[in-house]
Amino acid sequence: VATGYVWLERYGWHDTGTHAGFLPSGPTIQPLGHFESPESKVRLASLVEVSGLVECLHRLQVTPASPQDLLRVHDPAYVERIKAASDQPHGGDTGDPGTAFGFGGYESACLAAGGTMAAVRHVLDGTVLNAYALVRPPGHHAEPGKGMGFCIFANIAIAIRWAREEMGTGRVAVIDWDVHHGNGTQKIFAADPETLTISIHQDNLYPFRSGLLTERGSGAGFGSAINIPLPAGSGNGAYLSAMAEVVLPAVRAFMPELIIVACGFDAAAYDPLGRMLVTVDGYRQMAASVMAVAAEVCQGRVIMSHEGGYSPSYAPFCGLAVIETMAEAETGVGDPFATGLDVLPDQELQPHQRAVIEAAAAFVPDVRPS
Ligand SMILES: [Zn+2]
Repeated sequence: VATGYVWLERYGWHDTGTHAGFLPSGPTIQPLGHFESPESKVRLASLVEVSGLVECLHRLQVTPASPQDLLRVHDPAYVERIKAASDQPHGGDTGDPGTAFGFGGYESACLAAGGTMAAVRHVLDGTVLNAYALVRPPGHHAEPGKGMGFCIFANIAIAIRWAREEMGTGRVAVIDWDVHHGNGTQKIFAADPETLTISIHQDNLYPFRSGLLTERGSGAGFGSAINIPLPAGSGNGAYLSAMAEVVLPAVRAFMPELIIVACGFDAAAYDPLGRMLVTVDGYRQMAASVMAVAAEVCQGRVIMSHEGGYSPSYAPFCGLAVIETMAEAETGVGDPFATGLDVLPDQELQPHQRAVIEAAAAFVPDVRPS
């Protein structure tokens, strides 16, 4: 049984328009590319190919998410709004000017959700042991009635609701290590005791005032949301400590049937949007720790769904290391940037970072299988 892999050329064609970063161009803002450009994902797909890793992977077929799939999470009016804007010759946006898309943006977003669904489906039916869905656009910021942060539809949440309804799946743990808070996933499952959402992110980065330690779920779901808002400047030491002290114990206590990782690479050292220092080796170790806990609690059933990561030069190497780890393969590509990054003093866990991790770890005893 192999590692499943989802990638479609069409993901690279999703058009976010001429922005400068995430700002629409204007009188004093010269048009440039959008941060959420195809490059960081297309170049990861290219590296998977050129490194030979693709030979070790089982390519999964993707069908687009249907309106019924979308409506398990999203409001009908929101889905209609996206479809109507997507049918315009120049596209539109989700209501958030930074989350723009060209003609056919609805169809690419349905393919992204369908890609994550395909990864979940094939892990659940045993075709593959685990799977990496290299999808675009990303999904973890999308809320039921609001797309934001470059996300149109909530890829992971749609896949979880599908699995519940169509496959009878019970408890699912979502580990979100994108540098931004996984607000959409958290909001959708806030009151759901069967879905554990854990987000490690840069404190108060995006969305503003979202992902605080005090956000812990609501109603019957209280205790099933955990946030680890790390200070800007955190490196491998802080991330690996957050995994060891909070994420892995919480997952062990929750005993999920399935683990889904919201796999962003924008906590990487060269990312233009994050202010963190994680390296290829840091991601490799984080992925290895997820695979180890999955072997303990859920027969190794892990799906990683691609989220952010905006350094076209560096993100591909981080992604390759994670997929290699899932597939237990070694291409020898490594980290060509390692020399400059491993020596940074703040790669080690710092006291102010430890304080946040300890505060989050205090919530782990409240996590239990529902
Ligand atoms: Zn992000």
